[in-house]
Amino acid sequence: MSLSSRTIVIDAFGGPEQLRLVDRPVGEPGPGELRIRHHAVGLNYIDVYQRTGLYANPLPLSLGMEGAGVVEAVGEGVTHLAVGDRAAYASQPPGAYCERRVLPAKCVVKLPDAISFDEGAAMMLKGLTAQYLLRGTLPQGGLQAGDFILFHAAAGGVGLIACQWAKALGYQLIGTAGSDEKCALARELGAAHTINYRTEDFVARVKEITGGKGVKVVYDSVGADTFMKSLDCLQPFGLLANFGNASGKVPPLDIGLLAAKGSLYVSRPTLFTHIATRERTQAMADDLFGMVTSGQVKIRIDQRYPLADVAQAHRDLEARKTTGCSILLP
Ligand code: NDP
Repeated sequence: MSLSSRTIVIDAFGGPEQLRLVDRPVGEPGPGELRIRHHAVGLNYIDVYQRTGLYANPLPLSLGMEGAGVVEAVGEGVTHLAVGDRAAYASQPPGAYCERRVLPAKCVVKLPDAISFDEGAAMMLKGLTAQYLLRGTLPQGGLQAGDFILFHAAAGGVGLIACQWAKALGYQLIGTAGSDEKCALARELGAAHTINYRTEDFVARVKEITGGKGVKVVYDSVGADTFMKSLDCLQPFGLLANFGNASGKVPPLDIGLLAAKGSLYVSRPTLFTHIATRERTQAMADDLFGMVTSGQVKIRIDQRYPLADVAQAHRDLEARKTTGCSILLP
């Protein structure tokens, strides 16, 4: 009996109107693969970059890089998961916007019983990103309790996880967000200070909050609109980690500026280098699951959409109407 899966695909890069629901056959997993039946699928800003073609993939393309559900079948050589296991993943290549899919098993980990499918789907890509940023994307000498860091889009999916995680580590996270309501939410979840970067000059406010010193790290996923000003928020030897482009791609950088502004460092990390092996994915997931099951990080799911309403989900995300995580329900 062949299985089918309601799946969202695009045939051309473009706006949310490109997202189309189709029925697709799903086969058996090959060596090193497994088939999962989704209970929930995560929505991420990277899905927008892939829909528009900013991050190009071959067409036609099924989007989505995060999900949770039950393992339905495992291919040869897969030993860390079995049929019937609850599981979750952040995956490369995309293809999570569907009822069921076959994907590389090395991306997938067992989901602890204490974590719901909805939370699992919402937190893998975003939570593993917060994990590698706050644990491993650090200035020379690392960060100590009490240090100031600046985190843009602090009321978003990655942002609210980072607010809580940074607080647990003792850092003073200064969060930016696009409205006073979003700023209040970020403070409620652990940001020590917030700045509404639509109405306030965030460079001046960072200087004020840090007594003129600046921060040791800026975590910047907004990109074009914030990148150059983010450099001006750093202490000498500080690190700017640009990990996204919600406002557009960062233009080419004159590297000499880094000397002029105080021997600065710039990094452009991606989660997929960090989770390239199964061992590393498991270690990072264990860290994330520990933070969640101990109650130090709560996964806020503020938007839920039926899979068929994915175009509306994309519109809301791009219009900056969302807070925390969003999930799609197949
Ligand atoms: P968010 O929930 O954070 O949504 C994006 C947010 O960016 C918006 O809510 C908005 O918040 C802010 N933003 C600022 N300017 C704009 C703009 N012009 N248009 C739209 N949004 C804008 O998304 P995610 O949690 O899914 O991801 C956060 C960021 O992290 C994304 O840029 C994503 O690509 C990146 N990312 C990178 C990874 C990596 O490894 N490199 C992995 C995972 C995510 P506000 O209104 O408060 O400004």
